[in-house]
Amino acid sequence: MPTPHSLGATVFGAGRYLVRTAGSMAADVASAAVRTGEVVGGLVSGTAATPGTVRLTVLILSDEHGVPLLHPAQLEPALARADAVLTDGAGVRVRHVGTHVITEPAPTTALNPRANKLLLLDEALGRTDFYHRQLKYVEDTGSVTDVVGRPITAIVVRDIAGRTTGCSLGISADWVVVQAGLFDTERPHEYDETVLVHELGHALNLPHHPSSDNLMYYSSSPPEHVRGTGLNAVQRAVINANRHVVPGVRR
Ligand SMILES: [Zn+2]
Repeated sequence: MPTPHSLGATVFGAGRYLVRTAGSMAADVASAAVRTGEVVGGLVSGTAATPGTVRLTVLILSDEHGVPLLHPAQLEPALARADAVLTDGAGVRVRHVGTHVITEPAPTTALNPRANKLLLLDEALGRTDFYHRQLKYVEDTGSVTDVVGRPITAIVVRDIAGRTTGCSLGISADWVVVQAGLFDTERPHEYDETVLVHELGHALNLPHHPSSDNLMYYSSSPPEHVRGTGLNAVQRAVINANRHVVPGVRR
């Protein structure tokens, strides 16, 4: 596996670099409407429609020494899993529009955030300013246009407090945090492809679900007891009604 430093040649002036996925510059709405072979039949309405689309941007923080927490390629299995889970379960594609590696050393408070209500408190008190400065950069580069279809940003951090490995403020925020170990195959007791899409579920307004077969089950314990990725009809409807999702088109 390449080390983060191997991408050093692509670092440019602003102290960060951007990895764009092929085709991500195309208009997502238009491309979703014209794609063939991706029709999801009757998941919500009972009539065939093209998939909806939710766009996802990733920010990878760097530690106090400026070493990125992950190589962007390490995200790919979890990104593919997120797309598969929401496509199969809700008729919504997850389009990864870019990964920004923030090479500016992050403060320890940003690398090791608190979770849940404490993270919400930190947000209210302005303790998440480092995230917002980076999110502002994403907006300034034109990745974000409107309220409807507004992308969700996943921020890769080092260690979330307690046993939490991912955290979302639900519909309160357009960003979620996920711990770097989730994407590191050399850490089998942390590696878990379900957490990113679980946090996307929260950002799309889904609460927890009591079944361990469900994507929104509160707990997941790799390697043996990873949560399932099922979604029920109500969850599908909530996802499709969400402001982050550009709806599919009836055919
Ligand atoms: Zn959760």
